[in-house]
Amino acid sequence: MIGITNLSKYFGPFQALKNVSLTVSEGERVVICGPSGSGKSTLIRCINRLEKHEEGRIVVDGTELTETRESLDKIRANVGMVFQQFNLFPHLTVLDNLTLGPKRVFGLSDQEARDRALGYLERVRIADQADKFPRQLSGGQQQRVAIARSLCMEPRILLFDEPTSALDPEMINEVLDVMTELAGSGMTMICVTHEMGFARRVADKMVFMDQGEIVEVADPETFFTAPKSTRCQDFLQKIL
Ligand code: ATP
Ligand code: MG
Repeated sequence: MIGITNLSKYFGPFQALKNVSLTVSEGERVVICGPSGSGKSTLIRCINRLEKHEEGRIVVDGTELTETRESLDKIRANVGMVFQQFNLFPHLTVLDNLTLGPKRVFGLSDQEARDRALGYLERVRIADQADKFPRQLSGGQQQRVAIARSLCMEPRILLFDEPTSALDPEMINEVLDVMTELAGSGMTMICVTHEMGFARRVADKMVFMDQGEIVEVADPETFFTAPKSTRCQDFLQKIL
């Protein structure tokens, strides 16, 4: 479903990604972890072209990510993203945040977009907040709205970049519960997170990055009980 081959990315002279290769199959849940600055965000941002890679290939669902509008449109239609800072439109209600994309991109009518939005708000258990503005919601609620907004575009792949790290501790679980449920529904997911309990529960594949490289890829059992590299061992010791 996603094939990343020998990907390199530079910011000026600084190489943020070094020859990264990773495959993600349909329905697979991949969790990426690693120290700050290791390139986790850069890697997933490259997958939907929020960053442009210089070397290597990214193929999503048979389409190679290139400069062309056609390639970009196709990939963005397939790939949704949830950010640490929610990125909701502050001047729009929850419902309007969700209906905007489907109306603009798919030409849904007001009623169709509304029905779809309410369905996904239901799914993240927040339909009762549909008419509020983002600032009137807690961080956990806002992040669930952001997830519902991504789902409204009906992507085949969802990317998460530390979706719980801006949240107060008591709100982390309500977001992880929604993500766990999504994982159970068969969604293909790539999650950058340091929530290792979540990772153990839902990941099919653990990826450890350090200094722009993928250092280790393993199933969660092996990853947590017998990490091979000392860099990964040190990292896990610090966060577990
Ligand atoms: P964190 O855990 O802190 O979010 P990360 O693993 O997501 O870290 P990235 O944000 O991918 O790390 O950054 C990787 C490296 O690339 C860092 O050294 C960072 O300073 C650098 N970098 C990221 N974005 C840019 C940019 N727009 N311009 C220059 N350097 C950048
Ligand atoms: Mg990051």
